[in-house]
Amino acid sequence: MLARSRVAFVILFFLLIGTSIVCAEVLFTGNETRPADAIVLFDGSNLSEWVKTGSGEPAKWKVEHGYMEVVPGTGNICTKKEFGDCQLHIEFWLPLMADAKGQARANSGVYLQGKFEIQILDSYGLKSQNNDCGAIYGVAAPLVNACRPPEQWQTYDIIFRAPKFDAEGKEVSKARLTVFQNNVLIHDNVEVPNATPAGIENEKGAIGPLMLQDHGNPVRFRNIWLRPLN
Ligand code: MG
Repeated sequence: MLARSRVAFVILFFLLIGTSIVCAEVLFTGNETRPADAIVLFDGSNLSEWVKTGSGEPAKWKVEHGYMEVVPGTGNICTKKEFGDCQLHIEFWLPLMADAKGQARANSGVYLQGKFEIQILDSYGLKSQNNDCGAIYGVAAPLVNACRPPEQWQTYDIIFRAPKFDAEGKEVSKARLTVFQNNVLIHDNVEVPNATPAGIENEKGAIGPLMLQDHGNPVRFRNIWLRPLN
Protein backbone atom coordinates (compact mmCIF):
# COMPACT_ATOMS: atom_id res chain seq x y z
CA MET A 1 0.00 0.00 0.00
CA LEU A 2 2.81 2.35 1.04
CA ALA A 3 4.76 1.51 -2.11
CA ARG A 4 1.70 2.23 -4.29
CA SER A 5 1.13 5.68 -2.74
CA ARG A 6 4.81 6.45 -3.16
CA VAL A 7 4.55 5.60 -6.87
CA ALA A 8 1.45 7.80 -7.14
CA PHE A 9 3.32 10.65 -5.45
CA VAL A 10 6.29 10.35 -7.83
CA ILE A 11 3.97 10.33 -10.87
CA LEU A 12 2.10 13.38 -9.57
CA PHE A 13 5.39 15.18 -8.89
CA PHE A 14 6.68 14.70 -12.44
CA LEU A 15 3.29 15.60 -13.92
CA LEU A 16 3.37 18.92 -12.04
CA ILE A 17 6.97 19.67 -13.11
CA GLY A 18 6.15 18.77 -16.72
CA THR A 19 3.03 20.94 -16.75
CA SER A 20 4.85 23.96 -15.34
CA ILE A 21 7.63 23.63 -17.97
CA VAL A 22 5.04 23.49 -20.78
CA CYS A 23 3.15 26.48 -19.31
CA ALA A 24 6.36 28.52 -19.00
CA GLU A 25 7.08 27.91 -22.70
CA VAL A 26 3.57 28.63 -23.91
CA LEU A 27 3.11 31.74 -21.80
CA PHE A 28 6.42 33.43 -22.65
CA THR A 29 5.58 36.89 -23.96
CA GLY A 30 8.66 38.89 -23.01
CA ASN A 31 6.36 41.21 -21.13
CA GLU A 32 8.75 41.48 -18.21
CA THR A 33 11.60 42.95 -20.30
CA ARG A 34 9.54 45.46 -22.29
CA PRO A 35 9.57 49.19 -21.47
CA ALA A 36 6.21 50.94 -21.11
CA ASP A 37 6.65 52.98 -24.33
CA ALA A 38 7.57 50.02 -26.56
CA ILE A 39 5.67 49.30 -29.76
CA VAL A 40 5.12 45.54 -29.65
CA LEU A 41 5.82 43.98 -33.05
CA PHE A 42 5.52 40.35 -31.96
CA ASP A 43 4.28 39.09 -28.59
CA GLY A 44 4.25 35.40 -29.50
CA SER A 45 0.60 35.15 -30.46
CA ASN A 46 0.19 36.18 -34.12
CA LEU A 47 1.71 37.93 -37.16
CA SER A 48 -0.87 40.74 -37.34
CA GLU A 49 1.91 43.37 -37.45
CA TRP A 50 3.65 41.63 -40.39
CA VAL A 51 3.19 41.08 -44.12
CA LYS A 52 5.07 39.26 -46.84
CA THR A 53 7.67 41.69 -48.19
CA GLY A 54 6.84 43.02 -51.63
CA SER A 55 3.33 41.61 -52.03
CA GLY A 56 1.76 42.86 -48.80
CA GLU A 57 -0.04 39.50 -48.41
CA PRO A 58 -0.35 37.99 -44.92
CA ALA A 59 2.96 36.66 -43.61
CA LYS A 60 3.07 32.84 -43.89
CA TRP A 61 5.66 32.03 -41.23
CA LYS A 62 4.70 29.55 -38.51
CA VAL A 63 3.63 30.77 -35.05
CA GLU A 64 3.70 28.33 -32.12
CA HIS A 65 4.81 28.15 -28.48
CA GLY A 66 5.32 31.92 -28.33
CA TYR A 67 7.71 32.20 -31.27
CA MET A 68 7.53 32.67 -35.04
CA GLU A 69 9.57 30.44 -37.35
CA VAL A 70 10.71 30.94 -40.94
CA VAL A 71 8.84 28.63 -43.31
CA PRO A 72 11.46 28.27 -46.05
CA GLY A 73 10.29 29.54 -49.42
CA THR A 74 7.47 31.74 -48.09
CA GLY A 75 9.59 34.87 -48.38
CA ASN A 76 10.90 37.70 -46.24
CA ILE A 77 8.43 39.40 -43.94
CA CYS A 78 8.26 43.03 -42.89
CA THR A 79 6.29 45.19 -40.49
CA LYS A 80 3.25 47.14 -41.63
CA LYS A 81 4.54 50.11 -39.62
CA GLU A 82 7.59 52.07 -40.79
CA PHE A 83 10.30 53.57 -38.60
CA GLY A 84 13.19 56.02 -38.61
CA ASP A 85 15.48 56.35 -35.58
CA CYS A 86 14.66 53.59 -33.12
CA GLN A 87 15.72 51.13 -30.44
CA LEU A 88 14.90 47.54 -31.37
CA HIS A 89 14.86 44.43 -29.19
CA ILE A 90 14.59 41.03 -30.89
CA GLU A 91 15.30 37.47 -29.78
CA PHE A 92 16.32 34.66 -32.14
CA TRP A 93 16.96 30.93 -32.03
CA LEU A 94 19.03 28.97 -34.55
CA PRO A 95 18.49 25.33 -35.50
CA LEU A 96 21.51 23.05 -35.32
CA MET A 97 22.52 22.39 -38.94
CA ALA A 98 25.62 20.32 -38.30
CA ASP A 99 26.17 19.33 -41.95
CA ALA A 100 25.78 22.86 -43.37
CA LYS A 101 28.70 25.23 -43.79
CA GLY A 102 29.22 28.99 -43.86
CA GLN A 103 26.29 31.03 -45.14
CA ALA A 104 24.09 27.91 -45.37
CA ARG A 105 24.15 27.35 -41.60
CA ALA A 106 20.99 28.81 -39.99
CA ASN A 107 20.97 32.02 -42.01
CA SER A 108 18.45 34.80 -41.55
CA GLY A 109 18.79 38.51 -40.89
CA VAL A 110 17.30 41.59 -39.28
CA TYR A 111 16.97 44.47 -41.77
CA LEU A 112 16.42 47.97 -40.39
CA GLN A 113 14.24 49.91 -42.83
CA GLY A 114 14.31 46.75 -44.96
CA LYS A 115 17.80 47.84 -46.07
CA PHE A 116 20.49 47.49 -43.43
CA GLU A 117 21.12 43.89 -42.35
CA ILE A 118 22.43 42.63 -39.04
CA GLN A 119 23.32 39.09 -40.05
CA ILE A 120 21.85 36.07 -38.31
CA LEU A 121 23.86 32.86 -38.76
CA ASP A 122 25.31 30.01 -36.74
CA SER A 123 28.81 31.47 -36.24
CA TYR A 124 29.36 30.03 -32.78
CA GLY A 125 33.06 29.85 -31.93
CA LEU A 126 34.31 31.31 -35.23
CA LYS A 127 36.65 34.25 -35.78
CA SER A 128 33.89 36.54 -37.04
CA GLN A 129 34.06 38.06 -40.52
CA ASN A 130 31.84 40.82 -41.90
CA ASN A 131 29.25 38.28 -43.09
CA ASP A 132 29.00 36.26 -39.87
CA CYS A 133 26.41 36.47 -37.11
CA GLY A 134 26.33 39.96 -35.62
CA ALA A 135 27.98 41.52 -38.68
CA ILE A 136 26.52 44.52 -40.44
CA TYR A 137 26.50 42.51 -43.62
CA GLY A 138 29.50 43.33 -45.80
CA VAL A 139 30.24 46.50 -43.81
CA ALA A 140 31.61 45.55 -40.41
CA ALA A 141 32.41 42.39 -38.46
CA PRO A 142 31.20 42.40 -34.84
CA LEU A 143 33.77 43.74 -32.33
CA VAL A 144 33.76 40.31 -30.70
CA ASN A 145 32.03 36.99 -31.34
CA ALA A 146 29.22 37.07 -28.75
CA CYS A 147 27.29 34.12 -30.23
CA ARG A 148 25.73 31.34 -28.23
CA PRO A 149 25.57 27.81 -29.65
CA PRO A 150 22.53 26.92 -31.80
CA GLU A 151 19.29 25.87 -30.09
CA GLN A 152 19.58 28.63 -27.45
CA TRP A 153 17.72 31.93 -27.41
CA GLN A 154 19.89 34.98 -28.17
CA THR A 155 19.19 38.72 -28.22
CA TYR A 156 19.96 41.71 -30.36
CA ASP A 157 19.45 45.18 -28.90
CA ILE A 158 19.93 47.67 -31.70
CA ILE A 159 20.04 51.46 -31.79
CA PHE A 160 19.43 52.61 -35.33
CA ARG A 161 19.93 56.12 -36.65
CA ALA A 162 18.20 56.48 -39.99
CA PRO A 163 19.80 58.32 -42.89
CA LYS A 164 18.85 62.02 -42.96
CA PHE A 165 17.93 64.11 -45.99
CA ASP A 166 17.79 67.85 -46.70
CA ALA A 167 14.81 69.64 -48.25
CA GLU A 168 16.00 68.68 -51.76
CA GLY A 169 16.17 65.02 -50.79
CA LYS A 170 19.98 64.91 -50.71
CA GLU A 171 21.35 62.53 -48.08
CA VAL A 172 23.16 64.61 -45.46
CA SER A 173 23.97 61.86 -42.96
CA LYS A 174 24.28 58.12 -43.38
CA ALA A 175 22.57 55.38 -41.37
CA ARG A 176 24.34 54.43 -38.12
CA LEU A 177 24.09 51.31 -35.98
CA THR A 178 24.93 50.43 -32.41
CA VAL A 179 24.32 46.77 -31.59
CA PHE A 180 24.44 44.58 -28.50
CA GLN A 181 24.32 40.79 -28.94
CA ASN A 182 23.46 38.90 -25.76
CA ASN A 183 24.17 42.17 -23.86
CA VAL A 184 27.68 42.50 -25.36
CA LEU A 185 28.49 45.61 -27.44
CA ILE A 186 29.36 44.42 -30.95
CA HIS A 187 28.96 47.68 -32.97
CA ASP A 188 29.57 51.16 -31.56
CA ASN A 189 27.85 53.82 -33.68
CA VAL A 190 29.04 52.39 -37.02
CA GLU A 191 28.22 54.31 -40.21
CA VAL A 192 26.51 52.22 -42.88
CA PRO A 193 27.26 53.90 -46.21
CA ASN A 194 24.83 51.96 -48.41
CA ALA A 195 22.06 49.40 -48.28
CA THR A 196 23.36 45.86 -47.66
CA PRO A 197 22.49 43.06 -50.15
CA ALA A 198 19.10 41.36 -50.58
CA GLY A 199 16.99 44.05 -48.89
CA ILE A 200 14.03 46.03 -50.17
CA GLU A 201 15.15 47.67 -53.40
CA ASN A 202 13.65 51.15 -53.25
CA GLU A 203 15.30 54.50 -52.58
CA LYS A 204 16.64 55.13 -49.11
CA GLY A 205 14.20 57.18 -47.04
CA ALA A 206 13.58 58.68 -43.63
CA ILE A 207 11.43 55.73 -42.60
CA GLY A 208 11.05 52.09 -43.61
CA PRO A 209 9.74 48.77 -42.25
CA LEU A 210 11.62 46.26 -40.14
CA MET A 211 12.29 43.14 -42.23
CA LEU A 212 13.21 39.56 -41.29
CA GLN A 213 14.88 37.32 -43.85
CA ASP A 214 13.76 33.96 -45.21
CA HIS A 215 17.13 32.51 -46.22
CA GLY A 216 15.73 28.98 -46.41
CA ASN A 217 16.41 27.94 -42.80
CA PRO A 218 13.89 27.47 -39.94
CA VAL A 219 15.18 30.26 -37.68
CA ARG A 220 12.87 31.39 -34.85
CA PHE A 221 12.11 34.83 -33.40
CA ARG A 222 10.25 36.04 -30.33
CA ASN A 223 9.68 39.11 -28.15
CA ILE A 224 10.15 41.83 -30.78
CA TRP A 225 9.61 45.42 -29.69
CA LEU A 226 10.75 48.83 -30.80
CA ARG A 227 10.89 52.36 -29.42
CA PRO A 228 10.96 55.24 -31.91
CA LEU A 229 13.69 57.76 -30.95
CA ASN A 230 13.52 61.44 -31.71
MG1 MG B 1 21.23 36.81 -43.75
